Order: sequence, then structure tokens, then C-alpha cells
Amino acid sequence: HPIISLQDVSVTFQSNGKPLNAVDKVNLQIRQGDIYGIIGYSGAGKSTLVRTINLLQKPTTGTVTVSDQDLQKLSTPKLRNARKKIGMIFQHFNLLNSRTVLNNVEYPLLSQPIGKPKRQAKAKKLLELVGLREFENSYPDQLSGGQKQRVAIARALANDPDILISDEATSALDPKTTNDILKLLKHLNETLGLTIVLITHEMQVIKSVCRHVAVMDEGKIIERGDVADVFSNP
Ligand code: ADP
Ligand code: ADP
Repeated sequence: HPIISLQDVSVTFQSNGKPLNAVDKVNLQIRQGDIYGIIGYSGAGKSTLVRTINLLQKPTTGTVTVSDQDLQKLSTPKLRNARKKIGMIFQHFNLLNSRTVLNNVEYPLLSQPIGKPKRQAKAKKLLELVGLREFENSYPDQLSGGQKQRVAIARALANDPDILISDEATSALDPKTTNDILKLLKHLNETLGLTIVLITHEMQVIKSVCRHVAVMDEGKIIERGDVADVFSNP
């Protein structure tokens, strides 16, 4: 059963007065519990495509269905709730540098009706899950890139999302750290049943964790399928 379904989704930007189809009539279904990779060169439309999954980017045309809800038909409060079920991590971590690691992780819970003790207990549990419990009082600047990404992952999980979107999350990391982060994502997929949509420009990243892959070019999906089939050597 698909947890994410994009039907004929296009996103058109105005670029120097001319229309640019950053996403061009894409159909994509992603099954619950999958690790689905989206690969392509810079400018292929990967980020724009995944941003339609949480309506950070409104499609110009087409339908986005997540967990059987047509996102464009939801009221503002319902859309806000739907978005909470989609966590996101990025290449540059986007942590708050003036806040401790613990504060960063509890941040998404501040808008929830739960008290501080419960909120911090939850944040500590998440830090445990990503292997950073002893760093709760550190500041992001005191951490390595891989540790920062772990904090970002813990924060992305604060609202118990069903889906995690990873937009080039390992692109700023060395190969060993990349491997550790990918292992963590795989573990979260297996233990929490988290559906992961992973954007990258590196084939090795797709090969090491994804089950399915779509190759994007100029806004279109030009190839897709099982990773082993798409990247098999002839
Ligand atoms: P494409 O035509 O995009 O290269 P394929 O040849 O892999 O795709 O598949 C044939 C058709 O099946 C596609 O046009 C597409 O609409 C549909 N399809 C295949 N895989 C998916 C998927 N994961 N989600 C949605 N539609 C799919
Ligand atoms: P990728 O993630 O594959 O690198 P993007 O989705 O970031 O690709 O960009 C796809 C295309 O859309 C690029 O040509 C980019 O310049 C353009 N683009 C992205 N965002 C905007 C925007 N807000 N306004 C205009 N053009 C944009």
C-alpha cells in the first residue's frame, strides 16, 4: 500500500521570465516501510519533488496523497498535523547553534501540549536512540558533522513521523561517517517501520541502503525500479 502517491505532479517556476518545469508530470508511489532513493544531477528537480510531499512546495498541477489524505484538500490545522508526521534532514543540519543538543531535539515538541519533564524525557530517549545521550548539554558547534546529523535525525523523529525525508543528508560527510549515518537510517527503518525517502547524487549511497530508486533528469523520472535492476552492470 503506498504511503506517498504523487499523481501527475508538476512544479513550474518562472526563470528569467520563462517557465521552467522543475518537476514535470511525475507519477510516483512509495510503499510504507520502503527506503526509496531519488538520484540525479544537481538541478534535476529532486529537492523540489520531495518538497511537494510535505507541501513545502505547492505543485502547480497534480495531486499529492500522503497516508491516504489529499494534502491540498486539508484545512490548515489538519495540514499542520500531517506535516508533523513527515520529518526532514538536510545537508547542512539546520541546528540552532545557540541551543544545547537537548534543546534542539525538544524544539519540535514545544508546540505540543506536553509539559517540560515529558518533553525532555522524550528528547533524551531520542538522543539515546541515535547514540548521543552523553552530549545532551553540548552545543552543536562542539560536535562533529556526523554527530550534528545524528542530532538532526533525533529532532526529525520528535513528533513520531511516519516518513523521513533525507535531502543530501550525507553529502557533507566523509565516507566512514556517511556509512554510519546510513546504517542508523536503516536501523530506524527496520525498528520503527519508518518510510525513508532519500535524495542523493551518489550512486553508492543508493546502493548501500535503498530498496527502490528513481532516476531524475530535467524534472522527469527517466528510470526506476529495484536498485539491483536499475544499477546492474550489463
Ligand atoms: P517511466 O515510464 O516513468 O520510465 P516505468 O517504465 O518504470 O516508468 O513504468 C511504467 C509506468 O508505470 C510509468 O509510466 C509509471 O506511471 C508507472 N510506474 C512505475 N513505477 C511506479 C511507481 N513507483 N509509482 C508510480 N507509478 C509507477
Ligand atoms: P536538485 O534538488 O535535483 O538539485 P532542484 O529541485 O533544487 O534540483 O531544482 C530544480 C530546478 O528548479 C533547477 O533548475 C533550479 O534552479 C530550479 N528552482 C528550484 N527552486 C526554484 C525557485 N524557488 N525558483 C526558481 N527556480 C527554482
